[in-house]
Amino acid sequence: MDFNLLENYFNSLDRSLFLDDNIKGYANLDSPLPIGFGQTISQPSLVLEMTRILKPEKKNKVLEIGTGSGYQTALLSYMAGAVYTVEIIPELSMKAKERLQTLGIMNVFYKIGDGSLGWMEHSPFDRIMVTAAAKKIPLELMDQLNVEGRMVIPVGDEYIQELQLVTKDINGEINIQMINLVRFVELVGKYGWSSFDDK
Ligand code: SAH
Repeated sequence: MDFNLLENYFNSLDRSLFLDDNIKGYANLDSPLPIGFGQTISQPSLVLEMTRILKPEKKNKVLEIGTGSGYQTALLSYMAGAVYTVEIIPELSMKAKERLQTLGIMNVFYKIGDGSLGWMEHSPFDRIMVTAAAKKIPLELMDQLNVEGRMVIPVGDEYIQELQLVTKDINGEINIQMINLVRFVELVGKYGWSSFDDK
């Protein structure tokens, strides 16, 4: 992946385009900001770091879980061939779609639903980016990751999570690496914290 290309695009991308009017003035802060429905747009430096770790290539098909504002989606769509993005809150998905289409971004496919189940019809994916925190790595996502694929996912409890890099080699062997400590909003659905009773 061309890191300079990513960084130039990141620097040129106006984050305020992904924010509601009442919050646009804070766009330049390197911090998460509210996007409604109890959700947040991630901190820009973390979005950049996670994209660097994921290493999307032009030949890659990317699955993104948690479309949110569409800000991370924009970076992924610039670096990859196609992005399949899943969001569980319909209003957020529709708003992100409208914004990205206004920017002329056409290689993104949108789905409303539980992204922890992946997007079977379009699998396998060369890259998977999860932008909400799971209690465990969803098995469905492991299965839908292509050989020689990479997945970046925050795993942990509601207070703190490990940002993990999951790689699958040419033989299908999985390796998991801990990158950093992060704090994301909950991945709701089957792999969320609230839905597990084995805490
Ligand atoms: N990448 C986004 C981050 C949004 S926060 C951005 O930069 O704006 C995480 C998002 O994940 C929220 O929009 C939340 O609604 C969504 N989400 C949570 N659980 C989900 C699930 N199971 N499937 C799909 N989306 C989910």
